[in-house]
Amino acid sequence: AAKSAGGNAIRLHTPQMDQRVSQRVSLENRLRQALQEDRLSLHFQAKVAAGDGRLVGAEALLRWQDGETMIPPDQFIPVAEECGLIVPIGEWVIARAVSQIAEWRHRYPQVPPIAINLSPRQFWRPSLAQGMLDALAAADLPTSALEVEITESVVLDPEGDGIEQLNRLRAAGIGIALDDFGTGYSSLSYLQRLPISVLKIDRSFIRPLAADRSDGDSEPLVRAIIAMAHSLSLQVVAEGVETPQQLQTLQALNCDILQGYLLSRPLPPGQFAEKFLVDR
Ligand code: C2E
Ligand code: MG
Ligand code: MG
Ligand code: MG
Repeated sequence: AAKSAGGNAIRLHTPQMDQRVSQRVSLENRLRQALQEDRLSLHFQAKVAAGDGRLVGAEALLRWQDGETMIPPDQFIPVAEECGLIVPIGEWVIARAVSQIAEWRHRYPQVPPIAINLSPRQFWRPSLAQGMLDALAAADLPTSALEVEITESVVLDPEGDGIEQLNRLRAAGIGIALDDFGTGYSSLSYLQRLPISVLKIDRSFIRPLAADRSDGDSEPLVRAIIAMAHSLSLQVVAEGVETPQQLQTLQALNCDILQGYLLSRPLPPGQFAEKFLVDR
């Protein structure tokens, strides 16, 4: 620690820093324990066809109930990525999703592909793709039952062999969506380098859509993204659709698939099945 010299000495180590580190370690420990004690769960959010509203897919989203509080993924996924816990957590997500899909396919006649999110760090493990294919085979599921959502940071991660493993999954018939498109370090060259089948336009471009906002309308951008995706034979999903106006605009722009609170919030498996899988 810096000398607690009086005067103008710069403090390199502050009590606030100690507090932040210990909060992080505590979060990490509680998360590790939650994984061990099976207190993580998956919720499922519908994806519907923009044309007729029929269910065409769903996204599995991780949930952590920590006692009374629900800790959002945006808070614990980054921590899990940094400390490496994302690898066992990711394996849990794969196993849980596969067994949920198998159960649903056993009970309901039409279950659309279910997507899971993959972090770049999971690709450090060379067995990720093979593990997913093995899990599907063990559950007697076709590869079309599962999709993955990745971000372009997979390409930037020098530790992993992301593209090779994605090629493997794609060749086996697993759909691959590029998530949060338009944010971060988006480069158009990734659209060519990544073996994707679907492009998900980030929520930040959907929010200002048709909203009559002073900070500018995102419609020209969304229109261009959709045209570009279609010319590359990619399907387009709009994330974060919250209003009927956004829905109408996206329909007019020829967007293929819609996802967002307007259509449905992420739901626990039982509620998802009741709302979307029963009587189809
Ligand atoms: P994402 O993959 O981009 O997921 C979309 C997020 O937007 C989800 O937040 C979803 O609940 C939220 N969302 C959906 N519709 C709307 C809407 O209409 N309005 C608004 N405001 N939000 C909407 P969530 O579940 O909190 O997840 C946040 C992020 O955490 C995900 O972003 C994903 O990057 C990550 N994540 C979630 N589950 C997993 C997982 O199993 N593995 C990994 N590696 N990451 C995950
Ligand atoms: Mg996603
Ligand atoms: Mg997203
Ligand atoms: Mg996101």
